[in-house]
Amino acid sequence: MIKIAFFDTHSYDKDSFKKIADENISITFFETRLSKQTVNLCKGYDVVCVFVNDDVSKEVANQLYENGVKLIALRCAGYNNVDLTACFGKIHVVHVPAYSPNAVAEHTMALLLTSIRRIHKAYNRTRDYNFSLEGMTGFNLNGKTVGVIGTGRIGRIFADICKGFGMNVLAYDKFPNESYGLNYVSIETLFKESDIISLHCPLTDETKHLINSDSIKMMKKGVVILNTSRGGLLDAEALLEGIKERKIGASCLDVYEEESDIFFSDKSGHILNDEVLARLISMPNVIVTSHQAFLTTEALDNIAETTIENINSYFNNDEPVKNELCYCCGNMDRCRKERKAKCF
Ligand code: NAD
Repeated sequence: MIKIAFFDTHSYDKDSFKKIADENISITFFETRLSKQTVNLCKGYDVVCVFVNDDVSKEVANQLYENGVKLIALRCAGYNNVDLTACFGKIHVVHVPAYSPNAVAEHTMALLLTSIRRIHKAYNRTRDYNFSLEGMTGFNLNGKTVGVIGTGRIGRIFADICKGFGMNVLAYDKFPNESYGLNYVSIETLFKESDIISLHCPLTDETKHLINSDSIKMMKKGVVILNTSRGGLLDAEALLEGIKERKIGASCLDVYEEESDIFFSDKSGHILNDEVLARLISMPNVIVTSHQAFLTTEALDNIAETTIENINSYFNNDEPVKNELCYCCGNMDRCRKERKAKCF
């Protein structure tokens, strides 16, 4: 029997995992997140199953190892919350590289259309029998230029959706792939020429605060900034300044740098202590969703299936383990070494 400690559980996780877990697997669902304070809940478990805001820093990884946990199964793609160097040689890490890039790309377009066609305002107005069109003027996407930063699975689908709207797509990627048929430009050109900028690259030391006061200065007046990737890609204070100066026309955020203590829970009866987020939410041209771009039935089912397959692959001693992360370069998809065995 494989014993799994499942952290940061929500009702939709339980539903999708219970649907497919077999008799060899026993899952204990904890609502709390994995952290220094909760790591000892893992004693006696073989696997910890974690999500984007669980803390798998060095201290937590070492404690998991001491507690006898053999595998960290991330039920998400990004792994910036895991100290892979600390895990190397001690505890294996698997992730779900792609569960539904369409879900995230479609949510990005939903945010963009909602924002520029004022759908969120119309919804509230008509519920109040207010049928006025004052302040509701939007703009066409057809013919506009969108800059897509990061042309991986999600970025490419978003670019295709934009092409379907008749938009001109500019792309930037650290590892451009000419076979994708995209118009790759320098990051500066993308900043200068885009009417809309959408972030789809991972959060790394290099991409942290890619959108900052300097890059905002380069952008067109009225630019729309979309972030459904990771909060840390964008300096939220610089974004707020850009909005206050009327330089940024609108912004849609599904992620926020300081989201871990705020998103995924009901704070409606509380006073929000994050001044920057509170101010952003108060802006008429900002839309915030709380990291829900992935949340479709299809994506949840894919997450559950792949996570259980990854766990079974590790305990079946598959070589290589399915979707094991590479601890040395930290980027399995781009690792040039042929993987024929476990990482260690
Ligand atoms: P991917 O690995 O397929 O693509 C990432 C792309 O970014 C790659 O083409 C890579 O070359 C590029 N890249 C790497 N470093 C870069 C840099 N310094 N500058 C520019 N580009 C760079 O990943 P994906 O599946 O398309 O996911 C993209 C991001 O979306 C993930 O990193 C994750 O953080 C985020 N995501 C968010 C949600 C959500 O619910 N909001 C869900 C899934 C993924």
